[in-house]
Amino acid sequence: MLHRLKTDFRLSIITLLGVSAILGITPFAVMRYFQGNLLAGLVDTTILLGITVVLVYAWVTGDTRRSGLVLAFIACTGAVVVGTVVGEPGLFWLYPCLVTTFFLANPRIAVFLNVASVVALMVHGGAFRSEIQMWSFASTAFVVSACAYVFAHRNHDQRERLEHLATIDPLTGIKNRRSMDQELDLAAANAERTGLPYALVLLDIDHFKKINDEHGHGVGDDVLIEMVELLLKNTRKSDQLFRFGGEEFVLLLPGVDGIGLKAVMNNLQQVLRKYMKHPGGSVTASFGVALLEHGESVDSWLARADAALYEAKETGRDRIVFADHQRAPELAAATAGSPSGV
Ligand code: GH3
Ligand code: MG
Ligand code: MG
Repeated sequence: MLHRLKTDFRLSIITLLGVSAILGITPFAVMRYFQGNLLAGLVDTTILLGITVVLVYAWVTGDTRRSGLVLAFIACTGAVVVGTVVGEPGLFWLYPCLVTTFFLANPRIAVFLNVASVVALMVHGGAFRSEIQMWSFASTAFVVSACAYVFAHRNHDQRERLEHLATIDPLTGIKNRRSMDQELDLAAANAERTGLPYALVLLDIDHFKKINDEHGHGVGDDVLIEMVELLLKNTRKSDQLFRFGGEEFVLLLPGVDGIGLKAVMNNLQQVLRKYMKHPGGSVTASFGVALLEHGESVDSWLARADAALYEAKETGRDRIVFADHQRAPELAAATAGSPSGV
């Protein structure tokens, strides 16, 4: 639970706002009933119920986009209704709502909700003691909204930049191992649900240390960048490439198995053999390929691809080894005796 609060920013805002609203509004709801103000009591109770439903929905489904939107709407509408029913005290409730809309909904909807709430209270007019008070309220509401907008916008920008830095490999521009873990989990869950086959390819450049040692680290870096460009150019949009670490890459191929997978792998190997060059000659790579088994864990899937890659290295490099013969008998039959090991 704490982990979700720490990692999901919008869920934490929804929870913070929801819980503090429930704690803040409940005593007023009770007081209204005691005072015999049934209408105000009912308004408070409805707001409390709405907030509780949104909170539970957000936690159960994880759909914080919709929950945030509904919560922003309930908060603003609630504050306006309280303002029209009990008068001046309702104005104070609108301020926290004006601030939080920008953290709960997208900026355009937040601006709309804020303007609509302030205008609604001004048109009704019952909550204000004088014109001056009304216009002071409008001006301060504008200042609060503008500050909240700037703060929420900066916060959003910085979070996006941090997310980018945490998930992208700076040298090659592709996703790093951290995002790979998430994508493999998603792929495994999707395979379980839809039955779509997923292949995982572990690719390791052969004798890369030698390239670095003989031609310098800069040339090594260029080889990595060129390798990524070639792989991206020769795979489908739905395929995903990750830098696993050093000179190792992972390719996640959805919707391909059997003969199709063999053709994809052979094509990649040919492309690398043909186009990957460095000042001292050609660059080759070894491949370990594993198809996700039914009900298999991501760790085991990766381990099988790793074992296949190890075999490719041990048996001479510049080879493709499949770890999935039991899942793809037609592949095993088609590849028996192939010089590339597939
Ligand atoms: P093998 O065929 O068995 O895979 O041999 P190898 O030389 O490719 O493998 P090894 O693991 O011995 O060496 C990997 C090298 O990759 C060592 C490391 O310095 C280099 N390396 C790791 N990351 C980078 C990088 O970002 N840039 C460059 N230029 N080199 C890197
Ligand atoms: Mg390696
Ligand atoms: Mg290597």
